[in-house]
Amino acid sequence: MGNFDDLIAANKKFAETFELGGFDGVAHAGVAIVTCMDSRIDPLRMVGLTPGDAKIFRNPGGRVTDAALEALVLGVHLLGVERILIVPHTKCAMASNTENELRVRVGKSAGVDASWQSFHVISDQIASLQQDVQRVRTHPLIPDHVEVGGFMYYVDTGLIDQKF
Ligand SMILES: [Zn+2]
Repeated sequence: MGNFDDLIAANKKFAETFELGGFDGVAHAGVAIVTCMDSRIDPLRMVGLTPGDAKIFRNPGGRVTDAALEALVLGVHLLGVERILIVPHTKCAMASNTENELRVRVGKSAGVDASWQSFHVISDQIASLQQDVQRVRTHPLIPDHVEVGGFMYYVDTGLIDQKF
């Protein structure tokens, strides 16, 4: 306890002007975004959205994993999602290290063996993005009327560029 004091204090301030009470959990702009956990990415603001507008699913690399698909299926059928953006980004650690390099780096930081830990590194971001877009488009529980786009986010300009 105590190590979170700054964040808890900030939360109290946040709650003072909180306006989302009683708000439902639907994606009001009909949007879902799958993107990386990278702290340079502000997934709502980068496409002009605000809290309440979109479902956001993040993981290292912004990959369409089984968990991401689970979220997208729920989003489409129960939470109003009609457009899905898959958005990896430039300078992503998952695309600029090998799995072995990440194991070595994490092992050094942890001070214990990390050779058993899987890291889903990306050898070709564009090819992986294409596969991920296909994976969503061909999912039996994602209907054809749902738009699926694959984008690259450029961390140095803030722009997204549609690739698929
Ligand atoms: Zn990343």
